[in-house]
Amino acid sequence: MDKNIELEESFLGSVEAGKSLPTDTLPEEPMDADIAEQLVQHYRLNEAKANQNLATFCTTQMEPQADRLMTDALNTNAIDKSEYPKTAAMESYCVSMIAHLWHVGEGKKMYKDFIGTSTVGSSEGCMLGGLALLMSWKNRAKAAGFDIEDLHVHKPNLVIMSGYQVVWEKFCTYWNVDMRQVPIDQNHMSLDTDHVMDYVDDNTIGIIGIQGITYTGAVDDIEKLDQLVTEYNKTATLPVRIHVDAAFGGLFAPFVDGFKPWDFRLKNVVSINVSGHKYGMVYPGIGWVVWRENTTDVLPKEMRFEVAYLGDKVDSIAINFSHSGAHITGQYYNFIRFGLTGYKAIMNNVRKVSLKLTDELKKFGIFEILNDGSQLPINCWKLKDGLDQNWDLYDLEDALAKYGWQVPAYPLPKDRDDVIISRIVVRPSMTMTIADDFIDDLKLAINNLNKAKLVHSDPETVKMTDTVASH
Ligand SMILES: *Cc1c(COP(=O)(O)O)cnc(C)c1O
Repeated sequence: MDKNIELEESFLGSVEAGKSLPTDTLPEEPMDADIAEQLVQHYRLNEAKANQNLATFCTTQMEPQADRLMTDALNTNAIDKSEYPKTAAMESYCVSMIAHLWHVGEGKKMYKDFIGTSTVGSSEGCMLGGLALLMSWKNRAKAAGFDIEDLHVHKPNLVIMSGYQVVWEKFCTYWNVDMRQVPIDQNHMSLDTDHVMDYVDDNTIGIIGIQGITYTGAVDDIEKLDQLVTEYNKTATLPVRIHVDAAFGGLFAPFVDGFKPWDFRLKNVVSINVSGHKYGMVYPGIGWVVWRENTTDVLPKEMRFEVAYLGDKVDSIAINFSHSGAHITGQYYNFIRFGLTGYKAIMNNVRKVSLKLTDELKKFGIFEILNDGSQLPINCWKLKDGLDQNWDLYDLEDALAKYGWQVPAYPLPKDRDDVIISRIVVRPSMTMTIADDFIDDLKLAINNLNKAKLVHSDPETVKMTDTVASH
């Protein structure tokens, strides 16, 4: 074959490969589809390696069967329930399966007894859960004779521990709700149940319980919170309610032992959200929110928009409108593919890996473990106080990055932000082999740090370096 033609047919020999990518304005002319594909694919090559990203909660690996189903469903629109009734049906099946994992009550039925919806992620789920609390509070406050237009007297507030995910700040800002933050301290690294009720009054639209604090992986004691709320409600003008933000715990806790009740078993919990793209094991773009009762008291009618569905009408509850049904399809696939036993096997492996990481981290002798993986599979640690050491966790982050691992270091939330921590999110795709590989590189990284900082060190530090190196 003619050499030049062969080169011309190769992407690397194409005119486009020799030019910079269009960035600011639309290119004037079209290009060959295969060349365009290769250009974009090439451009993405240097993005993060999924398996070494220990920072994210989000799914980066699904089965090829799920990939195929989702690709097939990309051209559907989840909001159009009459055009895509099977997608709508799969959505309600998923809501029902999740509601039952959260103990909504045996034999209870979607739409008849409880209600929920898919969302784009937990952020939309939190937003909808928060809005339902707000609108329900407004309705009840009006009925109780409050002048809710008078914001000096009746500005609504939301009570939450200070290590909340940023969506709650957005919620409070967008809807003009006061955020009452319950601070953390040395003895209260999750919701401080000794003081939380001090923040509650007639203007409280709800209290958020977090089943999995994003920063550390700790869980709020929602069972205790529920007892406090029951006590408070006995004499309250406006009974207060709980929404649980279970973005990552919501599809982990149901499958493993060791958690106190945190879900609809607690009677003041009115709604719960979860991210399907975290431990639901679907690619980013899906979340879920469920209300324990399908009543307008819990989910006010202002939030419900009737849409046609199979010759009938159902309520649509959403902030977003059009989006693909691919993620619903992927979630339904995972549920029927793994089943209860499959999810249990996967999540127990995740826990095993997280506990193993804790064992290995302890062996270094320099880390204080803040979350050990015995509840949610987040490994979180700080450097022990009083170490004679010339590097910190930011240095460790950089040192690990050289081996390709992403392990972020950052300060704890307000009031304890003098403490710097590192965090690993153990996801299902982190098998024991990958954990072993990580530990090997962690040893090298720490060794390198100790050596690099030796120049100014005294003999004591040198000894410690040897100790660390021997692990
Ligand atoms: C991740 C997270 C969120 C936001 O979830 P998205 O699915 O990314 O929108 C909200 N709350 C908590 C506790 C989280 O961990």
